[in-house]
Amino acid sequence: MSTLEARITAIRERIDAACARAGRQASGIRLVAVSKTVDETVIAEAVRLGVDHFGENRVQDAARKFTALADPTVALHLVGQLQTNKARAAAKIAHEIESVDRLNLIQTLEAEARKLADRGELAAGDRLPVLLQVNVAREEQKSGCSPEDAPSLVEALLGCPTLRLRGLMTIAPLVPTAEEARPTFVALRELRDEVRLRYPAADLETLSMGMTNDFEVAIEEGATSIRVGRAIFAS
Ligand SMILES: *Cc1c(COP(=O)(O)O)cnc(C)c1O
Repeated sequence: MSTLEARITAIRERIDAACARAGRQASGIRLVAVSKTVDETVIAEAVRLGVDHFGENRVQDAARKFTALADPTVALHLVGQLQTNKARAAAKIAHEIESVDRLNLIQTLEAEARKLADRGELAAGDRLPVLLQVNVAREEQKSGCSPEDAPSLVEALLGCPTLRLRGLMTIAPLVPTAEEARPTFVALRELRDEVRLRYPAADLETLSMGMTNDFEVAIEEGATSIRVGRAIFAS
């Protein structure tokens, strides 16, 4: 077994164990392998091992690697802070943008995605799936909207015909133990439930939360998508 294969197998076993503890089905957890530290040859090996969702945080790197990979079965997630001037390039290559967090980005993405969709150049097809990133832990210097701003941004997204809201994303603070990240995950789930009451039509099924240090706790608290980088790709 290659190192990569052993690592991916170990992650899947840990996902299964966390699901068993939480009384959940592993099929309800999407593993997004955050490949920002590796090149397309490693990504291609992960694809052969059954990984089909990848996350990148820089648009140019993502474009280069995934153009080289040229695999239409793979979904590319953008998870990093997104500048408005990269919105077009992001919309063009991403199958999901997880880091949408402010009104002007929403408006720019909608305009760019619309133009691309009209020309049949949107990687995601007719509509671009997005998650609203929320800074539930209220950390300074972190991207993500405040919990208070989430409802109005959800409303803005619901008014965007080319963007397709799928849920919420958060990044937990860097804390010494995974257990200390639990309140952040609970807060995102509770925020989702509150926003849902106000906007019953909104699709908020996806909760993208949990990374290498804390994905098991995130699964216990309702994550449907986890973003794992180092545990898969770090040497
Ligand atoms: C890098 C990154 C990850 C993966 O983090 P690991 O700790 O390596 O698992 C997840 N989400 C975002 C937004 C990232 O930038």
